[in-house]
Amino acid sequence: MNSYDYIFAGGGASGLITAYRMSRDPFFANKQILIIDKDEKNANDRTWCYWEAGAGEWDNILTHTWDKIIFKAPHLHLEKAISPFRYKMLRSSDLYAFIKNQLSHYNNIQIVTEKVIGISKEKERCIVSTAHQSFEARKYVLNSIPEFNPIPDNSSYPYLKQHFVGWFIRTGSQCFDPSVATFMDFDIPQKGNTRFIYVLPTSTKEALVEYTLFSEHLLEFSEYEEGIQWYLDRQGIRDFQIIEKEMGNIPMTCYPLHQKNTDKLIHVGSAGGWTKASTGFTFMNICRNSAGLAALLKSGGDTQSGFTPTRYQWYDRIFIEVLAADNASGTEVFSSLFKQVAPAKILRFLNNESTLKEDLEIILKTKPKSAFTAAFFRTLFK
Ligand SMILES: Cc1cc2nc3c(=O)[nH]c(=O)nc-3n(C[C@H](O)[C@H](O)[C@H](O)COP(=O)(O)OP(=O)(O)OC[C@H]3O[C@@H](n4cnc5c(N)ncnc54)[C@H](O)[C@@H]3O)c2cc1C
Repeated sequence: MNSYDYIFAGGGASGLITAYRMSRDPFFANKQILIIDKDEKNANDRTWCYWEAGAGEWDNILTHTWDKIIFKAPHLHLEKAISPFRYKMLRSSDLYAFIKNQLSHYNNIQIVTEKVIGISKEKERCIVSTAHQSFEARKYVLNSIPEFNPIPDNSSYPYLKQHFVGWFIRTGSQCFDPSVATFMDFDIPQKGNTRFIYVLPTSTKEALVEYTLFSEHLLEFSEYEEGIQWYLDRQGIRDFQIIEKEMGNIPMTCYPLHQKNTDKLIHVGSAGGWTKASTGFTFMNICRNSAGLAALLKSGGDTQSGFTPTRYQWYDRIFIEVLAADNASGTEVFSSLFKQVAPAKILRFLNNESTLKEDLEIILKTKPKSAFTAAFFRTLFK
């Protein structure tokens, strides 16, 4: 059997970024590392947006950045600077190419393109199987494939999804202001859910437009597309070409996915609970957690460590409770927040970087109060 020290089951964002960190650490120079992914990872299968203050690790390969964001809801239109943050767009194909090029300089790191069909433990070894072969991990398997760590139906942890379809469009005339990103536009029919549009212009004629829901059930693909079409039409944007499409289904839950980690198997990325439950944002958590993971692999420490619940997990849990109990309440929640709190403060809060004083300000200003109070008590007794 092929034997490696570390095997990544899934070589997407978390697998590749963690492997990249390991490649730069001399500790791993004599360790054998294997990355298995069913895809070549050379297409742009997603586009990441995230915010950070000042310069960042991937700045040289970004597609675009914005210093201002728009928030919209019925009878509300706010356009605000987000200093000290910048909102950044990174195409996944650029990140994959950059990291794969870096990894190609290391003989101890191999990439195999095959579908993983099983991960099992035999005595002291963890085995990753594809249809054609099996691989043994002497130290750890790092799994980012959700089907090998599914989220169970568990009433203590409501499970919503951030699901969306996006079109990259090119218009015939100048339709966009590339200096400002529409972070959330709730001024669309909600149909009993939390639905919004996200518009990320990269030039006056090009933008990524996404129709997004925070809800329990996915829609038919055509319904997302009709939503984008309707929105563009209402903006008077009728002369355009669709350059690319993307779709996503990101878990929004506080279910403790790390609990299935064992002494040989660590779930990482969205499959490991690295997604921020209240927003679906994951990319910055991957950048941070991958550094912690590389340190854990070096020390051989406890694979359950580092998961002590923080106050942010409480906030997220309560927020998901509110949206699960009344899925149409998202517009009111986000409008009350953006109307009264400076966006930089909100972004810091959503990045789990706010002070307790800022948290209190945000909590006191977020509506509907009765829904949050009820959700707080429900969460307490679950
Ligand atoms: C379209 C889209 C847009 C997103 N945009 C943002 C954003 O703007 N900001 C943000 O913070 N987050 C965003 N996310 C959420 C999150 O950042 C990404 O999903 C991120 O890629 C998660 O990283 P991961 O390693 O957990 O999963 P992935 O990157 O999906 O990696 C898992 C890998 O496993 C592979 N795989 C799956 N099944 C098998 C199998 N059986 N055998 C072998 N390989 C397999 C897949 O090909 C994939 O490469 C987005 C997600 C999607 C889908």
